[in-house]
Amino acid sequence: MGEFDLIERYFVRPTPRAVLGPGDDCALLALPPGQQLAVSCDLLLQGRHFLATVPPERLGHKALAVNLSDLAACGAQPLAFTLALSLPHADESFIAPLARGLLALADAHGIELVGGDTTAGPLSLCVTVLGQVPVGGALLRSGAQPGDLLWVSGSLGDARLALEVFRGRVALPAADFESVRLAMECPTPRVALGLSLRELATSAIDLSDGLLGDLGHILRRSRVGALLQHAALPHSATLAAQPPALRDECLLRGGDDYELLFTAPPARSEAVRAAAAAAGTPVTAIGTITAATGLVMVDAHGREQPLAARGYDHFA
Ligand code: ADP
Ligand code: MG
Repeated sequence: MGEFDLIERYFVRPTPRAVLGPGDDCALLALPPGQQLAVSCDLLLQGRHFLATVPPERLGHKALAVNLSDLAACGAQPLAFTLALSLPHADESFIAPLARGLLALADAHGIELVGGDTTAGPLSLCVTVLGQVPVGGALLRSGAQPGDLLWVSGSLGDARLALEVFRGRVALPAADFESVRLAMECPTPRVALGLSLRELATSAIDLSDGLLGDLGHILRRSRVGALLQHAALPHSATLAAQPPALRDECLLRGGDDYELLFTAPPARSEAVRAAAAAAGTPVTAIGTITAATGLVMVDAHGREQPLAARGYDHFA
């Protein structure tokens, strides 16, 4: 199977919402008046962002999910995406499920694959998502205010726990492993929550590099600090059953959570809870924004412990 057969067979589908989809030199999209284009791209490289053991259907899902998570963090409505794919072989038993996982998530969000690039090479996927947001309405990292509550969606740390199992450092019962493995390989982008937070949150970020590191981005951009309540951090029963040092490493520095971390004035708490319920996504208040810069965590005994707000760094 040649390059163009592969593209035609697995990646080209009708794109009625786009002005022009795949097949020409560019795709063409129209943006309604009053909307801005939100653009984000994430590269997934085998051995760095995923393991060879990942089922291809989940890999396709994840390549788009991590990008939709960025749109969610900006409160943008997904419109379309492109896919740059590098593959060692035109192996249909791999490409077919990969495309299925990718396009199923695209369908769930009503978005179209409008173009891409396909080459032979080491396995990698680079998705670029395009979304729309009302002019000036995007959620940014820079808007957190002293006194705001700090919120997080879903639960933290399971993806990292799964990685530790793959690394051979942790053993879990089969059912627990399956559930944390799903968190790692098949994250749910919080798009509906992000959209509903546009009117409520003062800042937002999606968690890809660990809670402390990503919180650090909000704190630095907003020139504020935070008081984090350790006891409030939401996590699964599987993670709760791990030794405290491992549990905290996963919770605070885990990475690959793809939950939304956001801030909102306390007066909007009921509205935040209602928006989360409408989006079908649980949210938890985990701390407060402070005027004093720096990050302090309150432990289970009420003791305050200063922390470095740093996360995963590819070049550190
Ligand atoms: P060009 O030579 O102009 O870069 P290509 O020959 O690489 O274009 O691709 C031909 C068409 O197929 C383009 O419209 C491109 O957007 C589309 N395309 C290539 N790879 C993919 C893919 N993986 N998914 C969707 N569309 C693709
Ligand atoms: Mg061209």
